[in-house]
Amino acid sequence: MENQPLLRDTIIEVNLDNIAYNMKKIKEVIGEDIFIAAVVKANGYGHGAVDIAPTIMENGGEYLAVATLTEALELRKKYEDYKIFIMGYTPDEYLDYVVNNNITQTIFSLSQAEILNDLGKKNRKKPVIHIKYDTGFNRLGFRDCKESIDEIDEIFKLKNIYVEGIFSHFALAGRIEDDLQYNKFVEAVNLVEQRGWKFKFKHICDSISGIDYPEFRLNMIRPGAIIYGLKSYKDESIMLKQAMTFKTKIYHIKALEKGEGVSYDYFWKADKNCIVGTLPFGYADGYPRNLRDKGIVTIHGKKAPIIGVICMDQCMVDLTDIPEACVGDEVIIYGDGLNNTLDIHQISQLAATNKNEIACRITRRTPRVYIKGEKVVKVSNYLL
Ligand SMILES: *Cc1c(COP(=O)(O)O)cnc(C)c1O
Repeated sequence: MENQPLLRDTIIEVNLDNIAYNMKKIKEVIGEDIFIAAVVKANGYGHGAVDIAPTIMENGGEYLAVATLTEALELRKKYEDYKIFIMGYTPDEYLDYVVNNNITQTIFSLSQAEILNDLGKKNRKKPVIHIKYDTGFNRLGFRDCKESIDEIDEIFKLKNIYVEGIFSHFALAGRIEDDLQYNKFVEAVNLVEQRGWKFKFKHICDSISGIDYPEFRLNMIRPGAIIYGLKSYKDESIMLKQAMTFKTKIYHIKALEKGEGVSYDYFWKADKNCIVGTLPFGYADGYPRNLRDKGIVTIHGKKAPIIGVICMDQCMVDLTDIPEACVGDEVIIYGDGLNNTLDIHQISQLAATNKNEIACRITRRTPRVYIKGEKVVKVSNYLL
């Protein structure tokens, strides 16, 4: 893919060196013999799945894991050879896409396994599946019972599919609940393996459990957040680097007189003469609208509070204490937490949500700029 022109000053900068660093660090922590199914759903948590995939795969990724068929197809269109895994459910009528694009599919019923088996035969392929086993999250998966073990047994007997793995997912409700889930999982795996079947990959850990529960890693983990340097685990000895910076430029500046209002409903009014800047980003770019009167951006290393209602495409900041600010000056919306910037963790706290949501809600209107060795190596402007 060729570089595309920017044509917009509100951008997501993605530091590919940081993603590479995080991948290597994760690999170092878990050890060489444990595989990584790198979770790049939701456009790689906003970082751009297609453009970060090579960095991930060249630094220890075994699989690219996504939630939906369309996410898998977006990656497959660009990369013929990467292993791609759909962790979610794909309805029967779309399963031929899975087979014809060599995508590994999550399965939690005999009937879907049979459909894949038939499609495999018809297309002279051997679809690869991972069994999803529900140990208490109560989202997707085989129920934890003997009938399920029997069904998995039946799935193994199908000749035209390859049962490569089995997995589960923690609710992370607490140590006791997590232990219970892990034990259920291992017990189910053992019951199946006692019948003579083998799973190449067994996995239950995401980012948090993958770091904090070394004893639960089995031989694969499915980290998402930590690849992007979004840390929610407890182990403070493991440092990772946030990969995303959200930036824009000042587009307009004016002096307001005491008593003037700003933005819809005049929820903010000047209590003295002041300077107000207009910034070209809003909730349609993924910035949380509920950060009205809470959000802070950084200009010339100083904090500028967002004032008034955040609009779809623009918002206003108080520049009274930053008199040197000029139109065209750089604004850091999400930084690394240094130099008076707010990082994604701080933004998520202010917006009363989690880091993953803050990252993945960045929309495709915002171009992604990829940095490697402090140079721009790629611009992706999805709208062009
Ligand atoms: C999203 C997801 C992950 C990754 O979660 P993180 O908390 O970002 O590491 C792992 N497994 C499944 C099934 C998921 O849906």
